[in-house]
Amino acid sequence: MNIEPPSEFRSGISADNGTNTDGTKTMSAASSTVTHAMTIDVEDYYHVAAFGNVIDPSDWPKWPSRVENNTQRLLALFDDSGIKATFFVLGWVAERYPELIKEIASQGHEIASHGYSHQLIYTQSQQTFRDETAKSKQILEDLIGTAVTGYRAASYSITQQSLWALDILGELGFTWDSSIFPVHHDRYGIASSPKKPYIINTHGNHQITEFPLTTAKLFGQSVPAAGGGYFRQYPYALSRWLFDRASEHSTVPQIFYLHPWEIDPDQPRIPGASAFSRFRHYTNLGRCEARLKQLLNDFDFSTVSNSLASTTPATTLDIGQLSNER
Ligand SMILES: [Zn+2]
Repeated sequence: MNIEPPSEFRSGISADNGTNTDGTKTMSAASSTVTHAMTIDVEDYYHVAAFGNVIDPSDWPKWPSRVENNTQRLLALFDDSGIKATFFVLGWVAERYPELIKEIASQGHEIASHGYSHQLIYTQSQQTFRDETAKSKQILEDLIGTAVTGYRAASYSITQQSLWALDILGELGFTWDSSIFPVHHDRYGIASSPKKPYIINTHGNHQITEFPLTTAKLFGQSVPAAGGGYFRQYPYALSRWLFDRASEHSTVPQIFYLHPWEIDPDQPRIPGASAFSRFRHYTNLGRCEARLKQLLNDFDFSTVSNSLASTTPATTLDIGQLSNER
């Protein structure tokens, strides 16, 4: 089914941005005063939390891997578009495909950590989290020869139940994070946390710059506008309208994320997954790559570090203030 966006989104984009009707670049250069962050979580289709109840991690090696090929396609796409991105690499993947990680870095992209085992942080002990996060950081640093200072939790699982993870990230030498989604969701989110980059003071007196996942106001509600499944499910015009709205017409940097498997409609199907998980994972895989190309044309993107450098953090919070957020 070909879903057309509501007419108000079309007219809204046109009126807000002075867009062209010929499909060429739709944002005016004058409005792009900041650089947005383009991010990829480097993991395979069988790592996702939605399949966690039907695939045991001990069985991961039995599934045909597609992460190398899909990541190469993203690298080619970014090269065509002339942009650099941030790749949050799962330690499990880096151990098995070290050449891929070296190649990402050699092409000038930023390497950050996506942890090691892709388990939800609030299901882990603090010691397990510390051990495997240190291990994954070391794996990446040994491969690329430079410090890895950025982190993203599996399934955005830094929530009010796992804010202690920020203390550990600070102790391990991470200086920025992109794990907190300011929405209500069944698996993640601190709904009323800040929606623009901000600084978190940890209990160990470290400072972590948090880049929250993009949300936009729609009918009075905060809705995700950051990428992934939302980007595949929404009509492209709605995604673009929401991202433009969230970024206040590109005057506030926002962050976009995608997984390599999201541009791979031919990936093996996972038997036994719930209808809801199948919907989340498989919707519009065949449309995603073309939409990503359009997005790269419509907004200015770079790495997280470059994006953060284009702005001043909105506020500074102690961790305790995040746990008080309602
Ligand atoms: Zn992930």
